[in-house]
Amino acid sequence: MTTPTDGLTPLAIDYLNLDSLFSVEELELRDRVRAFVDARIRPNIDAWYEAGEFPRSLAPELGKLGVLGMHLDGYGCPGRSAVEYGLAMLELEAGDSGLRTFASVQGSLTMSAIHKFGSVAQKERWLPRMAKGELIGCFGLTEPDAGSDPARMQTAARRDGDGWVLDGTKRWIGLASIADVAVIWARTDDGIRGFLVPTSSPGFSASDIEPKLGMRASIQCDVTLDDVRLGAEDMLPDATGLGAALSCLNEARYGIMWGALGAARDAYQSALAYSLQRRQFERPIASFQLTQQKLVDMVLEIQKGLLVALHTGRQKDAGALRPEQISFGKLNNVREAIAICREARTLLGANGITLDHTPMRHANNLEAVRTYEGTDEVHTLIMGRAITDIPAFA
Ligand SMILES: Cc1cc2nc3c(=O)[nH]c(=O)nc-3n(C[C@H](O)[C@H](O)[C@H](O)COP(=O)(O)OP(=O)(O)OC[C@H]3O[C@@H](n4cnc5c(N)ncnc54)[C@H](O)[C@@H]3O)c2cc1C
Repeated sequence: MTTPTDGLTPLAIDYLNLDSLFSVEELELRDRVRAFVDARIRPNIDAWYEAGEFPRSLAPELGKLGVLGMHLDGYGCPGRSAVEYGLAMLELEAGDSGLRTFASVQGSLTMSAIHKFGSVAQKERWLPRMAKGELIGCFGLTEPDAGSDPARMQTAARRDGDGWVLDGTKRWIGLASIADVAVIWARTDDGIRGFLVPTSSPGFSASDIEPKLGMRASIQCDVTLDDVRLGAEDMLPDATGLGAALSCLNEARYGIMWGALGAARDAYQSALAYSLQRRQFERPIASFQLTQQKLVDMVLEIQKGLLVALHTGRQKDAGALRPEQISFGKLNNVREAIAICREARTLLGANGITLDHTPMRHANNLEAVRTYEGTDEVHTLIMGRAITDIPAFA
């Protein structure tokens, strides 16, 4: 099968030669993930998307590829750098946002929570098999009435002897219906705490939210916790307060700033290849100035977005990254990516509204991406607070 870069010039692929900013190891990892996406995702994604399916069998393949919890050290995790993690997310999302979302929920949210806040016993129990994709995790923060403002969550954990009883509902929880373990955030007398809930626990149930108009090759669920009984050892000992949950979101938001560029790149390359071949008025549509302007604008934003992501990644690897700086990349790169995908769709004309072409699928996925892990508005408010020192929200 052809890849979107077949027949394109070097400048069309990497205008500023940004590849020169990456190490050989980083490019090798990127190329390995790209090859996986070409071989395993591109031939199948249309069918999965149409069927609204994420095949669980992909999980061990992604584990073998080394992209689950890839920035975490020890406990069988790959221990790669933030930049390598970002490059992998970019390549996965060039296949489909649903695929990158799987890696984010598993690695950046759930495994991160266990890695940051779990006991040694919890880490040993869950992380090695999650890194291999043998076990799947989910991360339950959002509720029907608590989205952008998770501090208003109603899910509660009350003491029961040495253990706990959890009651409440969560919504939009990725992977919950195929997960083996759920990180559930709940109110206690001692503030918000995180719990590790085996999904086989009596009283835990998850049902898929469908039908969806975007992010179709991906699972999100309504979750009910009805008198779910846990042992004392099931609380994440070091996760105290909402800040613990938010620190996991920062890991996922960081990955998204790279991932969105993958969707944008794929849409741009598809549109470019099509416009070089598609003829109207007896000329390729790529010969029209209006078309070239669209393509150039895409290249400008993809390359700028990559510089933002790379700089942010290098800062993260140096331990110098602030959460507010992640908001810059998430807000900018997702906003530009969705604009690029929509513009790319226009170049495909009517054919662009079919599943034969990728831009509209990517754009529909990015509708969800601009909402989860902090909406555009929430990241704008975070940046506004950072530059004015005045919070415009609680
Ligand atoms: C595909 C997908 C996967 C997801 N996966 C998970 C998951 O795995 N785990 C999980 O816990 N959650 C998950 N979520 C939930 C996600 O984090 C929430 O959707 C997100 O936090 C926004 O909450 P909401 O949808 O309730 O929107 P709301 O918070 O109701 O916001 C609605 C609108 O109001 C705006 N708004 C809210 N407050 C303000 C304000 N102060 N100022 C200005 N505007 C404001 C928002 O920006 C938005 O435009 C997922 C969502 C999606 C779509």
